[in-house]
Amino acid sequence: MSSLESLPIRDDLRGKTPYGAPQKTVPVALNVNENTHPIPEVVARDIVTALASAVLGANRYPDREFSALRDSLAGYLGHGLSRDNIWAANGSNEVLQQALQAFGGPGRTLLGFAPTYSMYSLLASGTGTTWLAAERDAEYELSPATAAAAVAKAQPDIVFLCSPNNPTGTPLALDTIKAVYDATDGIVVVDEAYVEFAPHDIPSALTLLPGRERLLVSRTMSKAFAFAGIRVGYLAADPAVTDALRLVRLPYHLSALTQAAATAALAHSDAMLAMVDDIRVQRDRITAGLTQLGFHAYRSHSNFVLFGGVENPHALFEALLERGILIRDIGLPGQLRVTAGTEAETTAFLDAMAAIGSKP
Ligand SMILES: *Cc1c(COP(=O)(O)O)cnc(C)c1O
Repeated sequence: MSSLESLPIRDDLRGKTPYGAPQKTVPVALNVNENTHPIPEVVARDIVTALASAVLGANRYPDREFSALRDSLAGYLGHGLSRDNIWAANGSNEVLQQALQAFGGPGRTLLGFAPTYSMYSLLASGTGTTWLAAERDAEYELSPATAAAAVAKAQPDIVFLCSPNNPTGTPLALDTIKAVYDATDGIVVVDEAYVEFAPHDIPSALTLLPGRERLLVSRTMSKAFAFAGIRVGYLAADPAVTDALRLVRLPYHLSALTQAAATAALAHSDAMLAMVDDIRVQRDRITAGLTQLGFHAYRSHSNFVLFGGVENPHALFEALLERGILIRDIGLPGQLRVTAGTEAETTAFLDAMAAIGSKP
């Protein structure tokens, strides 16, 4: 076998490492912000029925425009959106990649506010877009003034705003999104992968779409919808934006099975989202428990908590793993991230933390 170095790979990909959150089989996996609750059985049965009928037509290419799925997604989102506003792909990572293929590329720049979702810089490099990392305020918050100043200075072609932000969990105010939009003539993408876990009275960036044709709001079924294994992400934007994405998508990129499964699940969105309130409760338990143990938990509107004050993150990570609990070391000094699990998983994590203490 030859090495990567010996291949005639693109110069801008040399020395890069792929996305690589560990996939380990452990009793308590709280490392990649999945919904740890399975799909409810009644919904699973409907999905299987829809799949069975889709399989019978699988000799034909699927609906390239995934019209039924777009109607269902528009219905789920509300806010006066219709089919023409909606785009979908195999996970929101693919949606974001398509946005970069259409609006980024060689000679263009993408700006984000670090620390943020690690895929942004990887998607940039995959599409030949230059990644620019700007800074956040204290506690990983992001004020309108800080964000707008960074955008005005860098003049990026695209801005990715993660709301709430991964890996910090911190929310993003609509005023910050508005300030960023007004500071650029480029594309602004708000990644709302975790928005369903925010408090009910927090408005979505969807409310900002009218009159802002350069604003894209991406969502995923992977987290709140417990659909990570099926791969469905989507966005809402001006119809001109979805037309632009048609220029870069592969034909028939959403399989008939994916479309059928997602459409069937969206017909049960209340049942699919039934665990979200419980997950919020578990997240708040984690925040309170870690604080009590003397750690610093950052403000979170998502289904995970970033905490600091860890003397030796690697040792704590390993000590938890020995107890069958997998969390995430995202490489921030003195900090680790944990996903809110079921009540039992969350208890297992908090009990282990108390047993290990702050000095594993
Ligand atoms: C998990 C996640 C996604 C979603 O990924 P999918 O490809 O939809 O599974 C998008 N953005 C952020 C910030 C995430 O953490």
